[in-house]
Amino acid sequence: MKKLIIANWKMNPVSLKEAQKMMAGLKAGLKNSKVEVVVCPPFVYLTSFKFQVLSFKLGAQNCFWENRGAFTGEVSVKMLKDTGVKYVILGHSERRIIMGETAGQVNKKIKAVLQSGLVPVVCFGESLEEKQQGKSFVSIEKELKEMLEKISKENVAKIIFAYEPDWAIGTGNNCSSDDALTMALFVKKIMGEVYGKKVKESVRVLYGGSIGADNALSYLENEAISGLLVGGASLNIKKFLDIVENI
Ligand code: PEP
Repeated sequence: MKKLIIANWKMNPVSLKEAQKMMAGLKAGLKNSKVEVVVCPPFVYLTSFKFQVLSFKLGAQNCFWENRGAFTGEVSVKMLKDTGVKYVILGHSERRIIMGETAGQVNKKIKAVLQSGLVPVVCFGESLEEKQQGKSFVSIEKELKEMLEKISKENVAKIIFAYEPDWAIGTGNNCSSDDALTMALFVKKIMGEVYGKKVKESVRVLYGGSIGADNALSYLENEAISGLLVGGASLNIKKFLDIVENI
């Protein structure tokens, strides 16, 4: 299976003109057909790329779990689907830490995304404190189980997981590739225990956290890591292309 590289633009850039320039740079520069690329711009820019022929897919950075109604400021999966989005990032650490998003809320979002036929990219990871106290595995197992509550094994198999330790996001302090691999194998072990061998073998786990062209390849050597979630470096199209084109 092709490695999957997801660009998370977060709340950037600040104008549609800039977003269009970035997309044009990607359209012109992405040549590596051995890699699957997904670009997740802010919601407001999505419709302007809806009818473009792209060699990559579009994703969103969040969604709400209801399709419509009195939920001021929210964007539903149904709306996202209409913009041509195929993937939805859920439970990003910035949403958990800054917006107070809970595992229970992420669970509702995962269900809504699965029901719509889009692919949820579910982020998980430990805090620095948990890591320092040696609680990474315990906290991640708990977080995953809460986020996946009452989701069938057929549906869990459709989820893409992204190991994104809080302390590695946007800090320049990337997790070592050995530790990321250990975590990917740990997630697969849990999937095997709860959902069976087939899910364990097929589930995709990405790594995200301070990825750049200098360290990207080291994570992709082992097949247990199916790809990368790239934040900061995806805003510089040259840097992002360096990552993708070197795979
Ligand atoms: C992210 O936001 O998902 C991320 C991985 O950010 P960064 O690459 O900047 O650490």
